[in-house]
Amino acid sequence: MKIEKIEAFPLKAGIEKPFRISTTTFREVSALIVQVTTDNGLTGIGESVVRTAAGATMSIVTEMLAPLIIGKDPMNIARLWWDMFSAMRTRGHTKGHFVEAISGIDVALWDIVSKAQDLPVYRALHGFGRKTLPAYGSSIFCDDVEKMAARAEEFLEMGYRAIKIKLGMGIRSDVEAVKAIRSSVGDDIALMVDANSRYDAATAIRIGRKLEPCDIDWFEEPVPPYDLKGYERVRKGQPLPVASGEGEFSLYGFRDLLSTGAVDILQPDIGRVGGFTEGMRIAALTQAYNLSISPHTGMFSALNVVVAMHYAAAVPNFLIFEFMEVDHPLMDIFKTPMIRPKGGTLQLPEKPGLGVELDMNKIKRYLEN
Ligand SMILES: [Mg+2]
Repeated sequence: MKIEKIEAFPLKAGIEKPFRISTTTFREVSALIVQVTTDNGLTGIGESVVRTAAGATMSIVTEMLAPLIIGKDPMNIARLWWDMFSAMRTRGHTKGHFVEAISGIDVALWDIVSKAQDLPVYRALHGFGRKTLPAYGSSIFCDDVEKMAARAEEFLEMGYRAIKIKLGMGIRSDVEAVKAIRSSVGDDIALMVDANSRYDAATAIRIGRKLEPCDIDWFEEPVPPYDLKGYERVRKGQPLPVASGEGEFSLYGFRDLLSTGAVDILQPDIGRVGGFTEGMRIAALTQAYNLSISPHTGMFSALNVVVAMHYAAAVPNFLIFEFMEVDHPLMDIFKTPMIRPKGGTLQLPEKPGLGVELDMNKIKRYLEN
């Protein structure tokens, strides 16, 4: 089996009801879908996380990385990964768009090798083999307190027993919103909070201390991903467990993050960290620190959410799955309806590979240009 063709589809779609996090308001969503075809007719798909300008990552996939692996055997994924990473690793490019581009290709390769073995990806990864995943509702976006509390009630009606709340509206508004939601949902529901990297360490410490009576499972991205000293200050200065990793890349980035001793829950995004190949190494390293993985999902297509499900099912130290309760067009790009949690639990797809097929008519609708 040899890799014959690598294509990439840059997608963009408007969002009817925009939603707000600390750093931005989402009015549109972008994605880059990567498709790899082999000489024996197998096709694999993956997604590279992009925020805007999907064409930039597409050029890295098709012009820089594809020529390195076309004609090679897709079964040797670790070698192909290293060949791709080595294109730029000694030139300072070990993060960002470059590693996101590698991620989409790596996921598509895993889709292919799993199909070749007639196994779903989560089993081909020779992992933990979970068939179901506990999920939390992500997220209650920044808004007026009453609207945020009402949204929490909707999450309960959907069957969630764990809910994440976006912070970043300022100390008083954040604390007021979380207290209102805690008193409305009662004591039996798990609550997490996420500042999307908005704060400096001193502010995050004040917020974490004020939220202690609300029984919060984790404080996510209190400070920006590059502020490792800030993470150390936050972990020591306030009582909530700290979650982070959605803005980090590769085993080397997670080594540096883990070595701070300041993060309790790690959140790799498979469409960003380097795909399943690097994601499994990150899970192993995290396990060596006796810490848990809760994979990141976010503003991208439904494909990267399914990818995260296979990863969560495979890693031994998985904690809980982030299911994006967002209404946008790129959540509907398959031939079958997107998998949704029932009673707060997700069921893994059992078909070979990722278990989902792109509907090219839908893809064409959102193609950029
Ligand atoms: Mg987050």
